[in-house]
Order: sequence, then structure tokens, then C-alpha cells
Amino acid sequence: MKPVASLSALLTTLAALMIPWACVAQPKPPAERPWFQKSLVGLEVGPTGAQFGSSPKDTGYAAAFDGKAIARATKDSGAEYLVMWARDGEWAYYKSKFQPRPPGLADRDPLREAVDEGRKLGLPVIAYCQIQYPQHDLREHPDWRAVDPAGKPIDGRVCYRSGYLDRVKKLADEQLGYGVAGFHFDMIDQGFGPPHSCWCPTCRKQFEAENGRPMPKGMTWDDDWERMLAFRYASSAAFEKDLTAHVRKVNPKATVDFNYHGTPPFSWEVGQRPGQHAAHGDFVTGETGAWGFSALGVGLNAEFYRAVSAGRPYQIAMQRGVRMYHDQTTRPLTDMRWELLTLLAHGGFVTMVDKTGFDGRLDPTAYERFAALFRGVEQKREHFGHTPVAEVGLYFSGRTRDWYGRDKPADYFQAFQGAHKTAVYEHIPWGVLTDETISPESLKKFPVVLVPNAAILSESEVAAFTKYVEGGGKLIVTGLTGTRGWRGEPQAKSSLEKLIGGRLVKPLDSTDNWVKFPLSAKLTATDRPILARGPAVVYEPTTATTVGELLRPHRTALHAEGRYNADWPLSPDAAVGPAVLLNKVGDGTVLTFAASPDWATAGDHHTPEVRKLLAAAVRLLHPNPRVTIIAPATVQAVVTDDPATRTLRVHLLGYNAPPQTTPAKDRPFVLPMPIEDEPIFRATITVPGLKSATAFHNTTGVKQDGDRINLVVEGVHEVIVCRY
Ligand SMILES: [Zn+2]
Repeated sequence: MKPVASLSALLTTLAALMIPWACVAQPKPPAERPWFQKSLVGLEVGPTGAQFGSSPKDTGYAAAFDGKAIARATKDSGAEYLVMWARDGEWAYYKSKFQPRPPGLADRDPLREAVDEGRKLGLPVIAYCQIQYPQHDLREHPDWRAVDPAGKPIDGRVCYRSGYLDRVKKLADEQLGYGVAGFHFDMIDQGFGPPHSCWCPTCRKQFEAENGRPMPKGMTWDDDWERMLAFRYASSAAFEKDLTAHVRKVNPKATVDFNYHGTPPFSWEVGQRPGQHAAHGDFVTGETGAWGFSALGVGLNAEFYRAVSAGRPYQIAMQRGVRMYHDQTTRPLTDMRWELLTLLAHGGFVTMVDKTGFDGRLDPTAYERFAALFRGVEQKREHFGHTPVAEVGLYFSGRTRDWYGRDKPADYFQAFQGAHKTAVYEHIPWGVLTDETISPESLKKFPVVLVPNAAILSESEVAAFTKYVEGGGKLIVTGLTGTRGWRGEPQAKSSLEKLIGGRLVKPLDSTDNWVKFPLSAKLTATDRPILARGPAVVYEPTTATTVGELLRPHRTALHAEGRYNADWPLSPDAAVGPAVLLNKVGDGTVLTFAASPDWATAGDHHTPEVRKLLAAAVRLLHPNPRVTIIAPATVQAVVTDDPATRTLRVHLLGYNAPPQTTPAKDRPFVLPMPIEDEPIFRATITVPGLKSATAFHNTTGVKQDGDRINLVVEGVHEVIVCRY
């Protein structure tokens, strides 16, 4: 290993010395764009069978894991890069000084085979290098284990401030010596749940040195826990930064990306903040898929990565298996096409994860489908990667995730996810904003900003919202937004009092709350009460005008005794305050929902009526959008703009999962069936100033009527190209 590192370092130094000569002697040719800036699809290939440990007795394991065959199959499928499995917690799939190879490989070296073949084929080969569960290293170095608050080492979990960082650097040096184009590091994680880490002696000492006091003994949710959260985030960040700097020092051209988990449903326990931990390496890589994140999570994850990526590319991993990564099944082509094109429409580039059989062999069915899939992407290449057009910015508060969500972050995520679900079902183009990346410029991109249940808001966030609204912005706030203090404690006064134009009287202690509107308010098609399951707040207007009523639910004697099932809502009782407050501030408007139509929309009592309330609020505040799309709720729309050619693109993604049967466990919570059949649906798009409209597929019926386009679409993806 060491000779390799020093040789690379020497070459780097020599290259640096030669730069002045090169500049004088000849003009520099334009730098070729690195692989991650020009690729749409790639494959990650690794064996299945070592994720729960592995025994040398299993000599059949990975015996046919063949780097040359993998590189060829990748290239033949039309994938533009290969993420080659180089190291997991048990084995190295190359000749390493630090970690053994599976005995079944005998003298073979799959990473060498893949890199050599990749070079012949013009295929960048990126090393997949697992970080998070280094079973082999922890057996050799038990002192690198993470430790729980009681001082007990946690089996299989590593401390990121231990000697492990140096070990990973040495592994990276070895892999760089093979000529890999970069690394996918998977991943820095401090646990997806309890036991939480790390209270090891190294961490304790460092914490005390930085803070002048000992670590808290657990989740105390006080000043000490504030320091502890910051310390944990810093542990993850330091590891990522240090490793990135090391790779760049050895080979400045090698790319680095880390598997990113700063998005819902993940929270502080993983050790990643939405913004902070998206900043390391060359780009963010995240995971998605209906199997673990819901069908709606596919697009949401991609847009979240965009929001935290500050203009850099972002990569999303999806899988070929029907259930998840490690099963040896292959999803129907239509199902994979829907997911892949959803991610591309949302501006990401995509790695398809393929797990080989236990023996390391490739499945020909999978590669036949990949080839068909990637060919379709290639034909549509020019339609991806343009500037998003978003009407509504969905605001995500990392602070609320941590200090209101605490150890039940889903309570916070639900409103954000329901706001997203509303935007998708109602075809309101949307994007994501986060508290770490908020700025006047980021807010101004959105005609409407929706702040769902962001209980905790800082003074600077309130100032940014105020400036946005004064300048003509439209702000919608829901649920408990602004009702909590910096540590999540209830506060007497709303942080948004001036913007809301109303005084906080009290949050209701019920979630089965109701709202009622007159038809004249143009928020509903009914004047009957609507269940808005979720947090609600009683406000007293000061400068705002009010619309409709917030109704508390009936309560029985059994409720008082705690014997009524809290999951079952009861019917509406008396009015306790306004349902909506409308407040003019400067040139803009703030619309406050006293209840939580977003939380309700993501919950079990998800009526179209409650969802349409939010959509109607957007339309009330912003009556003349750049594009209006009418389509079934099963269709997602993504709008992009190419101002240079005056081209608006509307991607339409039709979801079409067949009904599912009763599951064997956790009834009635089902995984959707994979999509088999192409849907057929009608859609109408209106673009003021439209000149012409064309569809990509000749099976799509397009009829233009002035500014309006009437469509009949067949397929999971269509892109309508609108010239204006
Ligand atoms: Zn530690």
C-alpha cells in the first residue's frame, strides 16, 4: 500500500511543478467534464451474501464475481459508469493488505479485472467502499467500536473519531492504486435508532476538551444535549472532510461521494444534518424506492438533494430487486422505467443497484431489462437537466426535526410529507427549501412558500420570511409553525405573530380537529365541516382577516378517563377560533391555517377535501401561475425551463400499480405492487403565451387550443415540449 501512496504523491508533486511550463508552452485544452457531470445512468454491482457476516467455509461465495464480465455487461447495457463493489464489512474484492478476499475468488482480483476492462471500454469505474459496518476491522480493533451511553461497546458499530479513519484512508490508497475514477463511500451513520453512540473514551475526552464539561448521559434534551448533537454532527463531518481531503491529495481527479441520509425519514440519530452533511465530496448520493421510502418519496428525495446541493449534481440509487437491494428478483421493466424517469425528470442522475447471486454471477434477465431501460433514457437525454419551474417552495426545518421531533421525528415529517403529497396530487410544481440554506434569493425563486408545521423558527428565519413577504411573496403556514421555542418548548407567543396577524391563544390538545368554510371563501367545494387530522392552534386575529372556523372535536367521559382509542377521530363540536387568517404584509400576504391540512393528507384520514384546501390556498394567493396542469392524482408533473430556447418542458409520470392483496403481517400496511402495464390518461396543460407543443412519443394525442394543450398519454413517462 505505502509505495503506491508515495508514488501517487510524488506524481502529484511532479505534476504541480510542471504546470507553469505547461501554461507557457501551449494553451490548455478545455478540461473534459468529469463523469458525474455528464452521466445520466450507471450501475452499481456487488455480491449478495456477506451483509450479515460471512464465513471462509462458504467457498462458493463470490467465486464467479468477475470484474471483466461486470464491466462488459455494464457497458453493453448502456450504463455510463460502473460502481464496482471493492470492499464491504467482511471482504475486500481486490488484493488488500488489510482485509481478506472471499476464498472462492482464489487468486482472482475483481477490482483489477473491472478497472482494466473499464479502461478498454471507456467506462469509468468507481470503487464502492463500505464504511458503516466494518465487522472485520472491529474484530481486529475492538477499541474502534462505538460505545453506548452506559459505556457498553455497540457490536458492529464504529466510532468515527477512532483509528478507523486511518484504516479507511489506507484502504482508499490501495483502491486508488488500481486507477479507480473515484469512490462511493457508504456511509457515515451513527445508528438508525437506539442504542445511540458514541460515548467512547476518545469521544468523551474530546467533548470535555471542547466544552469544558462531561458528555450528557443520554438524550437529556437540554444545553448538554445541544452540545452533544453538535459534537455528533461534527464527528460525521470531520470524517467525511478528512477522508475527502486525503483522496484529493493522492489523486485530485478521483471523485468522492458519500451516501447521504439527511432527508426524511432519517433524523439526528444517523448523525447527518440536511445541509451540513450534503456539502462533502463532489456530489450527494441518496437512496430511494417504493420499497423503503414510498412511491412519493422517489421524487421528494431527488428534490431534497437538489435543495441541499447548491447547484452541484446529485445522484440517487435505485434497485432492481422487487423487495429491496439484496433479493435476486428483477422488477418489471415498466416499474423500473417509472422510477428511473421520475428521478431523471427531477434533475438527478441515477445508479441502478444490481446484486449478483451468492456465487457472484450476473442475472441475464436484469441486464436485458437494463439495456431496454437505458436505451429509452438515451433517446430522451436532451430533455433532462433543465432549470426547474416551481410555484411552491416546501420549507423543511432541520431544527424542528431535531428539537420538536426529538425521538419521534415522524410527528414533524408528516406535515412536510403531506404538503409534498398535496403538491404532487394537485400538479402544483414544487421545490424544497431548508432552514440551513434559506436566503432572500432561495425564497424569491418561489411565488409561494409553504411552511408546514415548522414548530421552531429562529429570528433570522422570521426576518427572512418577513423580507420575502414584504417584497410581494406569499407565505402559507400550517399547524404548530412558530409555536415552539428554540429547544422545542411551548411558548406563549408565536414567533410569527406579526406575519400571521394573530395572537396565539393555545394549541389544541386534540388531533381530530375540524374546519369549516363558507363557499364564498373559494377554499372548498363544500360548506360542511372537514376533518383536518393533525395539530391545530387557536388564534385571535389582530391585523388579519379571518375565514371559516376551527372546530374542536367532541369529547366523551371515556376520553377524560383515557379509555377512548386516541387513533379514532370524533365528530366536530363547537367553534374555537378562525380556520384561516389572511394578513397583508407589505406587498405580500400570509395565509395561516389554524389546523394541519398537510399533516392530515399524509395520514390515515386523507380525504381529497382536506388536501384540496391547501391547493386552493395556493391558487388564492397566486391566481396566475406560469403553467396550469390538470391530470389524475396518479400522475406527477415536473416542469422545467430552458430560457435560451424559450422551451418549457412538462414531464408527466403516470403511476399505475395494480391492487395489492392482504399482507401476511402488519395488516393493512401494504407495499405497492410493481407497475406492469403502461397507464393511459388524459391531461390538460395551459401555458400563457404558448406557441407550439409537441410530445416525445407518437402514441400521445396532442391537440392545441390557443394556450391550452389537451393530451391523451399512454405510458409511464411523457415529456411535452412547449415553445413560448
Ligand atoms: Zn467514540
